Amino acid sequence: MSDDSKTEQLREFFNPATNQLVDTWHLTPLDEVPRLYEQARMAFHSWSAIPLTERLGMMRQLRLYLVEHLDATADAVAQSTGKVPVEALTSDVLPLIDAILHMEKHAKRALRKRRAPTPLVLFGKRSYIEYKPRGVVLCISPWNYPLQLSLIPVLSALVAGNTVILKPSEVTPLIGKLIERLRDAAGIPKDVLQIAHGAGDLGAALTKGNPDFIFFTGSVRTGKLIQAEAAKQLIPTTLELGGKDPMIVFSDANLERAVQGAIWGAFTNSGQVCMSVERLYVERPIYDRFVQRLVEETKRLRQGTGPDADIGSMTAKMQVDVVREQVREALDKGARLLTGSPPDEWQTDQGLFITPMVLVDVTPEMSIMQEETFGPVLPVIPFDTEDEVVQLANDSPYGLNASVWSKSLARARRVASRLVSGNVVINDVIITVVNHHLPFGGAKQSGLGKYHGEVGLRSFCVETAVMKDSGRQVREVAWYPYAGRYEPLAKLIKSFYGTKTDWVGFIKAYTNLLKGRK
Ligand code: NAD
Repeated sequence: MSDDSKTEQLREFFNPATNQLVDTWHLTPLDEVPRLYEQARMAFHSWSAIPLTERLGMMRQLRLYLVEHLDATADAVAQSTGKVPVEALTSDVLPLIDAILHMEKHAKRALRKRRAPTPLVLFGKRSYIEYKPRGVVLCISPWNYPLQLSLIPVLSALVAGNTVILKPSEVTPLIGKLIERLRDAAGIPKDVLQIAHGAGDLGAALTKGNPDFIFFTGSVRTGKLIQAEAAKQLIPTTLELGGKDPMIVFSDANLERAVQGAIWGAFTNSGQVCMSVERLYVERPIYDRFVQRLVEETKRLRQGTGPDADIGSMTAKMQVDVVREQVREALDKGARLLTGSPPDEWQTDQGLFITPMVLVDVTPEMSIMQEETFGPVLPVIPFDTEDEVVQLANDSPYGLNASVWSKSLARARRVASRLVSGNVVINDVIITVVNHHLPFGGAKQSGLGKYHGEVGLRSFCVETAVMKDSGRQVREVAWYPYAGRYEPLAKLIKSFYGTKTDWVGFIKAYTNLLKGRK
């Protein structure tokens, strides 16, 4: 690359909470894409051949490095996103470290050959399932939890023996640089994990580059574009997309816990969470009291950047615009803001701070109740019956997460079972995502496929079903010639699959068939 083109590719990054210049970064030129794939394909042969224990050793090295450099890592996340330090630590760094430990403990079992039973009618054969890496995996990630949402899929793919090209979000580009340092600290070869720095045009060029698998986390809109492109070559994908998660509070819930759960679930990371509480349904007998407590508690939250702050800034200017439009439309249509300032008063020149908002008198057809907001807004609606609230909660194109709050666990479980959602939490919010023994993914337009834990590791593999025969017989019972086979085959089916197994008839029919295969 010439010096001129290098300068053209140089970008500055400003901390969204302070609007101060933090660092610079380089865009990866679009014409680099073929070279990235070439290198990834070449590296695949050696990487997939090294023993799993060796790959897991690098994961351990990475985990220990992260623990040792905890403060610097959390600080890089906070500077990149405007998150408060506690959230950078607990919601981005900790889930990553925990996921690595889970891989270290469970990858061997998840990826080893598994014996499968073989039915009696296939007597004499053995069956097993084998998991092999897919090849070159393309990971494209978002900006809201830029470290864990990049590295958990990337590391799962690497552990399974794939090589990876990662395109982190252009909104948080320093995380791409941080991941390069983490890769080197773990001893993962550069060609095995390559980072492509850039925006949607680079993501689109990489998607066209014919990877063997695409793992995407981001908006429904981009997910559909990627899926359409992938379909041309039938490239398999996992898509982790947006949400509009309902929280349902029955009158018998622990009211104070539900209030605290609602404000944390709605406002953590300034509401920029795919699983944040975006619709709050409260049973009418407790509605007024609940809303009053919500407003009191929301007013107590402290915004800032320091270690004691509860809410940081927004991360992306364009997301502030989305939130502004939705709140404005809701207010124009009659909704009332009980706390937080109206959009026309927002000052974001010195940092993207917007105060948390509680909205009432909202109606189901407003875009604040239909579309993903991804900001610190909590719209509240009263409900009267269980059937009504289940219908309201399910009336959404999304299905990522939901929560049900009641002291009657039987009722909570019943309602949870009726929700069309990839995840449901009872008397808590969001939390399924951090348990790596659970599969994670959305229903409806919230996504396709699952990751995390053993299921997640295997999703980065080609799953091959194998059956083996000793190979001593010349023919199988169902092979040619068919002459004289129909009758014993029909007898075998009737004796084995009828209301009661007729073992004598079955053995006779089977022996007759075996005689014919010599
Ligand atoms: P986005 O879709 O705008 O961008 C995500 C990534 O896709 C970025 O790296 C971007 O550069 C890239 N991209 C954009 N256009 C592309 C194209 N045409 N082809 C290929 N790549 C392209 O999403 P975002 O604003 O970064 O993230 C917020 C969204 O992500 C929200 O909808 C949120 O709910 C969702 N999300 C989902 C999960 C989940 O696990 N389900 C987790 C976090 C965020």
